[in-house]
Amino acid sequence: MPLDSAPDRILALVRPGDRLEQDFHHSIALLAVRLLEVAAVVVQVSDEAGRWFVYAPDMPAFTDAFLDAAFSDHAREGAAAREVSLRQDGDGLSPIRFSARAPLLAANGAVVGWVWLIDKRPRFDFQEKEKTLLSHIAATLADKVEMSLALRYQDRLTGLGNRNQFMRDLRARLVGANHTDWAVYAVMIDVFSLKYISRLVVATGLSAVERAIQLMHERLAGVVPRNIELYRLGLARFGFLHAGDKATVRALAARCVARFDQPLAIDEAALPLSVSAYAGVMRVEGDVNLSEVIGGLFVSADQAREAGKMWAVDDRIWIYDKSLMQAQQRTFQIVNSLRGAMLASDQLRLVYQPRERLCDGVWISAEALLRWRHPTLGDIAPVEFIPAVEASSLMSMLTDWVVDKALSQLAVWLKMAPSFAMSVNISASDLTRPDFVPMLSRAMMRHGIQGGNLELEVTESALAHDIQAARCTLEQLAVLGVSVAVDDFGSGYSNLAQLHALPFDVLKIDNALVRAALTNQRAEAIIKSVVGLAKALDHRVIAEGIETAELRAMAVGWDCNEAQGYFISRPMEAAAMSAWFAAQACA
Ligand code: C2E
Ligand code: MG
Ligand code: MG
Repeated sequence: MPLDSAPDRILALVRPGDRLEQDFHHSIALLAVRLLEVAAVVVQVSDEAGRWFVYAPDMPAFTDAFLDAAFSDHAREGAAAREVSLRQDGDGLSPIRFSARAPLLAANGAVVGWVWLIDKRPRFDFQEKEKTLLSHIAATLADKVEMSLALRYQDRLTGLGNRNQFMRDLRARLVGANHTDWAVYAVMIDVFSLKYISRLVVATGLSAVERAIQLMHERLAGVVPRNIELYRLGLARFGFLHAGDKATVRALAARCVARFDQPLAIDEAALPLSVSAYAGVMRVEGDVNLSEVIGGLFVSADQAREAGKMWAVDDRIWIYDKSLMQAQQRTFQIVNSLRGAMLASDQLRLVYQPRERLCDGVWISAEALLRWRHPTLGDIAPVEFIPAVEASSLMSMLTDWVVDKALSQLAVWLKMAPSFAMSVNISASDLTRPDFVPMLSRAMMRHGIQGGNLELEVTESALAHDIQAARCTLEQLAVLGVSVAVDDFGSGYSNLAQLHALPFDVLKIDNALVRAALTNQRAEAIIKSVVGLAKALDHRVIAEGIETAELRAMAVGWDCNEAQGYFISRPMEAAAMSAWFAAQACA
């Protein structure tokens, strides 16, 4: 720990949370000043912030220079000196004429800090008795410092170093390492998924989970060599650092993961708990930003779990890659800025893609499609932000926004074309929320929209997600007279048999499947059979992705009712669509 740091500046590092600790040091310093009649006491704590506590009632102008002068002498004795040491300044040039230093020794013998006594006069009276008193003061301070370091760096449940300790050790390893041919690997073993833990807490109680975590520690300690320290990095996440080659680290991570193939037996649970461990591995190079390491490990371990491969141990280890982290950070940023975007007037907007009735070529409706121009990320495509928002709790808010904007626009166009319809995309979560239909019917009333002018598009997978809830919502929509289209049919399982019991009106054949029909006879055969079946069940069929005249002709041949795609029109800005309506009215 460098001794030339300015105490005033470093005092500013003392966080408000350290108040109690500061008060304690203050009391001890006060005691030392009184008992040993010195002018100032300084306590230095050897944590990574290198904190100092200065108590100098008799030296109001206590400055860095004083400390430098007093400490440089002692520093020559080296940090290893474990005895009380004294310095008397004989020439009287320095305002500090006396200093004494004692190490703060932890129970394991480590030096966790120092205490210094400073005086403005020589202290030849400072003898064995005073030295012993200083040693006692140092021991009391050491206990306190050790306790506070343990709180900051140790996990209470397992006694392992915690995330702070992990970072501290990693930092220490990176300092002075030769980065050209050297790297340390950071490994995280994730034993339980968070979802599993919360279920377990409900089923067996917190103490069972704590016991399970202790057992995990024991198991890992049985695999990881003694010279490699284990850390607890999260609820059921452990970690270690290993300087070695990739293959060795991977093999060790694999042994750790495999160790949890056997269920954990704890007294509190009637049955052994079957767990599934995954590992994230990150090569930490010299120039890495340390704050990324923990995040990188979490992302990698989560990615391994998400990939969900259960059987081969090797598949349960994910090696960190930066692009994944960047993608996650981008997603996070996107979701975080959505609220602001909904409040701003210039970020989100709807564009409208017309749909053509094939028998007479008339545009009878338009699909509202969301666009987002982000102030720093630029244009973000809905295929990127919609799934991110769907995974958050903000989707309902976004759907409400879209419904309001689309219906308000529709109200304007209905004045020019009273039978025109608007199609709005909704998400799986909208089908299961109880306030969706009330919200929609309020918006319809607000904008004076009849059910016959509105259609909602929902993907097949969203319908299949919770068939009962979907049925209930669809029935309520039918009461409002709003029709429902199954979007992107043919992109997933495409199980019409499963859907046939649901009250929907329209089937939209997926973009990609339609385009594939140009070159692939099987795709065309599938479309033909789907159209036949849908029509037999009384659904209207729409072909999406009509990009060419040839595809449009094919859609007519398949007996589709309507078509949508770039050949008919690209999605249009509201103003362009309004101009089209105006032109129609004049024609
Ligand atoms: P979707 O509902 O299937 O919308 C059709 C998508 O295909 C649109 O992409 C449209 O621009 C694109 N498209 C139209 N014609 C053609 C064509 O001929 N060729 C090709 N290659 N593509 C064509 P977009 O606007 O990027 O939207 C993508 C998806 O994002 C939508 O697919 C929909 O699932 C979702 N989405 C868009 N807006 C919203 C919204 O307001 N709410 C929700 N929940 N989802 C939305
Ligand atoms: Mg759609
Ligand atoms: Mg679609």
